Amino acid sequence: MVILGGGESGIGAAILAKKQGYDVFLSDGGTIQPKYKNELLQYDIAFEEGKHSEERILNADEVMKSPGIPEKNELVKKIRAKGIEIISEIELAYRYKGDSRIIAITGSNGKSTTTSLIWHICKTGGIDCALVGNIGYSFAKQVATDPKVLYVAEISSFQLDDIKTFRPDIAVLLNITEDHLDRYEHKFENYIRSKFNIIKNQTPQDTFIYCVDDPVITDYIARNPLHSNSLPFTMYYQLPKGAYIKENIMTIQTDGEKFTTSVFDFAVKGRHNQYNTMAAALAGATIGIRKEKIREAVETFENLEHRMENVTTVRGVNFINDSKATNVNSTWFALESMTQPTILILGGVDKGNDYSALLELVKEKVKAIVCMGVDNRKIHEAFGKHVEVMVNTASAKEAVQAAFHLANKGDVVLLSPACASFDLFKNYEDRGRQFKEAVREL
Ligand code: ADP
Repeated sequence: MVILGGGESGIGAAILAKKQGYDVFLSDGGTIQPKYKNELLQYDIAFEEGKHSEERILNADEVMKSPGIPEKNELVKKIRAKGIEIISEIELAYRYKGDSRIIAITGSNGKSTTTSLIWHICKTGGIDCALVGNIGYSFAKQVATDPKVLYVAEISSFQLDDIKTFRPDIAVLLNITEDHLDRYEHKFENYIRSKFNIIKNQTPQDTFIYCVDDPVITDYIARNPLHSNSLPFTMYYQLPKGAYIKENIMTIQTDGEKFTTSVFDFAVKGRHNQYNTMAAALAGATIGIRKEKIREAVETFENLEHRMENVTTVRGVNFINDSKATNVNSTWFALESMTQPTILILGGVDKGNDYSALLELVKEKVKAIVCMGVDNRKIHEAFGKHVEVMVNTASAKEAVQAAFHLANKGDVVLLSPACASFDLFKNYEDRGRQFKEAVREL
């Protein structure tokens, strides 16, 4: 088996394949990080970096392609042309997971939060389970080195592109909004289909948890009938089975459990997190966690860094780090949950954003916009006429100082950029950390 890519997924897949007795060769066109190289040496896995030995690769029986490698890659095209089977890492992990169960979570936004919350619910309920996938730890490596009875897996659309038999016991689909279209021939339909691959192999024994308030999801389901046991969730009406929130009370109803909880007891705040919590509670109830434990877990969950993270309050001004908001939709939810006048820090690398979706909320809640990016023209065009104060900054420190200067006691400074971070930062984590550092220096 040939493994393309020597990052987290590639190394994990290589270790699993080697342990299962495959003749493994890993190839990475760039450089492989030292920690991963050490693992390859430790497991005696043949590899190359800085090049692809085409002849050897095109001789493979099967290729595991890492999720970061696009279809338009020349080597991938040649592999396809030769008819060699390409699989993703989760497909390989699935092949060797034995009787263990899988809860797989996908969506355009909220994956990491919901995956972590489900993991927390399952652990609180006493299940020895692993947190794997897109969240940072290879599913295949977990199966190879520390198998568990349950895997809670965050799955990206790229991981779903090359599955064949992957069949999660519980699949969660949170929402679908336009993202990563560059990888899908700029066709939204292709991205939607890729997300729905999560239920492709499900049967009536398996469960599909999804958001019925998302028109993209319901439209697809209307055209493609479901084969799974379905558990929808909604904010707008009562459902006989599934989850809903009415007057701040969440009701969960599965075949096994029925219970209610107040949204004021949720550890994570904001409307988007109410959706995430409904999905997670349904998953927990379906896997057999008792309602008391689900309630306890929902109340004690600590959210991940950089997602609506409360940094601190300086002279009555509250600072929130939502650096992970790299698209308009996640910034929309951040703004929606604001209850005080807000100074919004916005900007970075724009992935073709349409800011008009934010306009109503900006008019209602935002008193100033601090642009933090190399090119801020589109932000000025979108909001210049509607927001009194707009300033340009080019670092986290400058942005925090400008925002603090504009804020009064009782205001909130929200970093929720709606953009990627590569113009000024290494990644969104770096952006969030620099923001927090600057706040602490005030
Ligand atoms: P992902 O792993 O899908 O990128 P995260 O849980 O890391 O999602 O959250 C990414 C961003 O999206 C954060 O800014 C967060 O506040 C926001 N967000 C979280 N859940 C949702 C949701 N259900 N809908 C829209 N935005 C969300």
